[in-house]
Amino acid sequence: MSKPIQGEMMYEGKAKRLYATDDPNLTIMEYKDSFTAFNGEKRAEMTGKGRLNNAISAEIFEYIKENGVPLHFVEKLDELRQLAVRVKILPLEVVVRNITTGSIVKRLGVEEGKRLPRPLLEFYYKDDALGDPIVTEDHALLFGWATEADLAEIKKITLRVNELLQKLFEPLGIVLVDFKLEFGKDRDGRLILADEISPDTCRFWDSSTGDRLDKDRFRKDLGNVLGAYEEIWRRLSGRKK
Ligand code: UDP
Repeated sequence: MSKPIQGEMMYEGKAKRLYATDDPNLTIMEYKDSFTAFNGEKRAEMTGKGRLNNAISAEIFEYIKENGVPLHFVEKLDELRQLAVRVKILPLEVVVRNITTGSIVKRLGVEEGKRLPRPLLEFYYKDDALGDPIVTEDHALLFGWATEADLAEIKKITLRVNELLQKLFEPLGIVLVDFKLEFGKDRDGRLILADEISPDTCRFWDSSTGDRLDKDRFRKDLGNVLGAYEEIWRRLSGRKK
């Protein structure tokens, strides 16, 4: 396949820029060095963050793709960029929790750090102005954010990704605590996994020390933020395939 030519910027998000290409079916995602948390209230720039998240998410996407999950990711282009299938993103964030922490502890007062008997799936409505409120499947159906078939497929893919990620990270001494996925529809209306999977969107805990190896280091001012991302990349890239 000939290399696509990057066109105009279509969208700039908190952690990535999206560009058109000379192929209307493809887009280029460029990872930024920006950190944001608490709905954009807390911000910082850290050189090297974009490169690390690009490398980590590309590695994870390649592994997931090999295992048959329908995915927008095509290939890593260079230090900061990935080629992906152009999709229309559904306005839902899908969160899976294996262990309780973060917003669920604040919202429901449940005990922190408890392993759940099975993965818990949650949906949030993607709307910055509203602060991404939690919603039920019925909200998604009635307000037209997803169909019954979409939701069934989303749940199936999400649980499969949870299994795959745990299988990937467990031998690396990393506990997958929770993560967030986003889905889109390609030009044929096919539902596919999109966005990124990185320490920005997952909680990773070191299985022996309990150290936080993800964006919580930034959210909670734990220090050595990029060191944690480096450590995830070091273990992922050094694994035996
Ligand atoms: N998450 C995300 N983007 C968001 C909200 C959450 O990637 O806008 C991820 C987050 O990194 C964590 C999981 O989803 O891995 C669950 O996050 P939680 O609901 O606990 O929210 P938080 O405590 O981060 O506000």
